Amino acid sequence: MADLSISTTTGSQNCVEGVRVFEEYSLHLLPHNPAWLTTAPAWVTSLSLPHHTLLANIQKWSQELSWKTHLSEEDRRGVAPPLRVGVNQMYGRHLVAARDMRAGEVVLVEPPLLLALRAKSPPYCSRCYRRAEHFTCPGCGFFLCGVECMTESHQEECAVFRRLGLADPPQDERQKEEELMCERVAAMPSEQRAQAQALLQQARKTALQQRRLDVLRQYMVQPAVRTLLTMNQSDLKRKLILSLQGNSDTGSQRYRINQKRIVDVVINQLQAATDPTLVHQVCSVWDTNGFEVPLGWGTRVHGLYPLASLLTHDCRANTQQWFTADGHLVLRAVDHIPEGSVLTTCYTDPQWATLLRQDHLRVSKQFTCTCTRCLDPTEMGTFMGSPLCQGCGGPLVSSAPLDPKSDWICHSRCPHTATAKEAAGVGAQVGGSLRGLSPTDAAALNAMASHLKSTLYPTHHVLLQLHVSTLGTIVNKDLSEMPVEEIRTLAAISSLVTGVIKQVEAPLTRLTVRMAREEVRLQLQLARRGHGDERLASKNKLKGLSRQVADCELVLGWDDRMPPFSAVLRDYQALMEEQ
Ligand SMILES: [Zn+2]
Ligand SMILES: [Zn+2]
Ligand SMILES: [Zn+2]
Ligand SMILES: [Zn+2]
Repeated sequence: MADLSISTTTGSQNCVEGVRVFEEYSLHLLPHNPAWLTTAPAWVTSLSLPHHTLLANIQKWSQELSWKTHLSEEDRRGVAPPLRVGVNQMYGRHLVAARDMRAGEVVLVEPPLLLALRAKSPPYCSRCYRRAEHFTCPGCGFFLCGVECMTESHQEECAVFRRLGLADPPQDERQKEEELMCERVAAMPSEQRAQAQALLQQARKTALQQRRLDVLRQYMVQPAVRTLLTMNQSDLKRKLILSLQGNSDTGSQRYRINQKRIVDVVINQLQAATDPTLVHQVCSVWDTNGFEVPLGWGTRVHGLYPLASLLTHDCRANTQQWFTADGHLVLRAVDHIPEGSVLTTCYTDPQWATLLRQDHLRVSKQFTCTCTRCLDPTEMGTFMGSPLCQGCGGPLVSSAPLDPKSDWICHSRCPHTATAKEAAGVGAQVGGSLRGLSPTDAAALNAMASHLKSTLYPTHHVLLQLHVSTLGTIVNKDLSEMPVEEIRTLAAISSLVTGVIKQVEAPLTRLTVRMAREEVRLQLQLARRGHGDERLASKNKLKGLSRQVADCELVLGWDDRMPPFSAVLRDYQALMEEQ
């Protein structure tokens, strides 16, 4: 497999060994990635296949081939993945584009190595993650859909979790207890019987509720237990999990929480491991590499995807991941990616300003991002972090964007400045006024945006997020009934938002196309309903949006959880054909 070769710039043997493990693992991913073969079936080159069709095709294709993981030299020559694993001082292990990639191309399909419940989930089935609150496993007490989910894979962890003693007592035991209680109650003076009966019933109910609550509390332990069990399944899985990066700072609060809530439970109560260092390592592997995975039925779980977790962070990423209903990760190029580029994803919210993103990355991922946007005080000319200069009404920008203590200076070169504290004060004040605001109340969102315009630059991230929420309220709305004045206001908001997003996001990200969709819909309304110049201007604007229309058609077609676009496209085409 020539293209998964190592590009080493540091001599660390450990790193090289780690890369070998990932290469071997990549071979196991071949059945999910027909596009990696030089003899790939023709359908894999279609960028517009919806993910469920893509996955169904892949499944059918891989079933028709008999897969072997030990490929011959000749087989290996026929494998050319678009990505390879690299290692250097700056990024550690990372993924590199092995050839030029088109925007929209599938870079990688990766099934989860592991899925697990999230710590604060409501009662979900431990096996299939559907909402399940009426049936609990008679062995471990964890929620399941029913006996159909007491499968072999559940039995393995059931044997571990039953040591917590959270299952309901067996039927015959309950019956015996019931009979005993009845006898005791019957022996009581008649005037006390009713009260005793009620108390007993209450006690039974409380014990049951307590067991259910205890099960929910133990959701936090499930990822670690599943990982330890998986590590026993094969040498490769063990090596792979131990090769994943985990930042475990023994002085951190996270470490203390992991010790108390996970490590102690796994070792003392569950007896699933004996080495606390190993359990801490497993916890930090999840903390550092865990993906939040939205499944098809609205459940969110945690997932481990070893190859995708080698993606490097960038605030303007060149790839984005989608998840299919059953948790497969589909990684797409969201921009043109030249050969040799580092493949990147965004671990934080690109809609936030630099200070906020930096803070989030420091706390959640323990590093400082030094991407082009983070180093640019204007944030690529968007001024998304800028308070309004009280001297001239221009934007204030940080004099050193990576230093939260640096002064803010006026970008319009008036002598006005603000200390870091004053700039942060504006943020805190804004944060305070946003509390309790409903994201579905368009009128309140607008009123808040007008109120904040006296302290924030018009493209400040808080204002933009209010605008994004406002635009979110019209996604499923029929605009033909909306007063034209309102359409005009929304169209102005949407032009502002898409203008900024184009600077900070790649063209095919979910946010870019979602916002482009609303811009197209609003301009379509203005072109249909406006008069004279306005009508013409909207039509010209729509002509200029043809690229975004094509992007919307592509990206919104991948996933049925995205807003539909075909009706908008029909309207667009019909209007463009009119004279
Ligand atoms: Zn189930
Ligand atoms: Zn069980
Ligand atoms: Zn950055
Ligand atoms: Zn100024």
